[in-house]
Amino acid sequence: MLFPDDCRLCGQPLQDISRIPVCGICLRLPAPLAADYFCVTCRTPFVNAFPLDASGRCALCRSNLQSFDAAYSFGGYQGALRQLIHLLKYERIRTLGRPLGDFLATAFPRDQRFDAVVPMPLHWRRQWQRGFNQSALLAGEVGRRFGLPVIRAVRRARATAPQAGLTNAKRRANVTGAFAPSRRTSVKGLRLLLVDDVMTTGATASACSRALKSAGARYVALLALARADRRFAPDALATQRPGVDRGAGS
Ligand SMILES: [Zn+2]
Ligand SMILES: [Zn+2]
Repeated sequence: MLFPDDCRLCGQPLQDISRIPVCGICLRLPAPLAADYFCVTCRTPFVNAFPLDASGRCALCRSNLQSFDAAYSFGGYQGALRQLIHLLKYERIRTLGRPLGDFLATAFPRDQRFDAVVPMPLHWRRQWQRGFNQSALLAGEVGRRFGLPVIRAVRRARATAPQAGLTNAKRRANVTGAFAPSRRTSVKGLRLLLVDDVMTTGATASACSRALKSAGARYVALLALARADRRFAPDALATQRPGVDRGAGS
């Protein structure tokens, strides 16, 4: 016998027997990130135009700290979207790939042409513990919807400490040299879409993108499901403690 479960977000009994333990109302809660001011390159939202220069770029992009060419994301890493991502990653509810793929598809830059989708790699030990790579699952959803091949063009060259709780500069140092291009796949001259679940400062995506470019990729854009939105909690990154907030980027 099958009994409908309770929704893992709102606790209401599920009306239908579904492979997704979240009700239809909660699945419709995540909304696209809205911002009046954002960086034209990495699309980081800001409360005002002050951090942006005349060309509309933020300090990180201005000082060439982001090695990707563009970054797109669906929503803020909070509320229902954050809970859904945690259910996928930490409770391994892989059936969430499809509804989360729908969110990614709405953020997909339709005015751009890509040759392939590249999942953000997990270190093999992390992937072995979790049993799957959530970014590969999401990359597969994007590839299927837009008819793009998914290539594992980059790998983790070494394990990194969790990014949560680190300052921006420490995050960048932590992931320097963490990625290496795969020897089996050539990306020479390709336009790539790197897919990840969460973007925080862009340090991980930037290190990964640098590895892809060193292997000859012509263009690398990041597509993330959620992005840390620091507009309403300016010091949220500094106060996050590993273990309390498992953060993003892995
Ligand atoms: Zn619900
Ligand atoms: Zn920027």
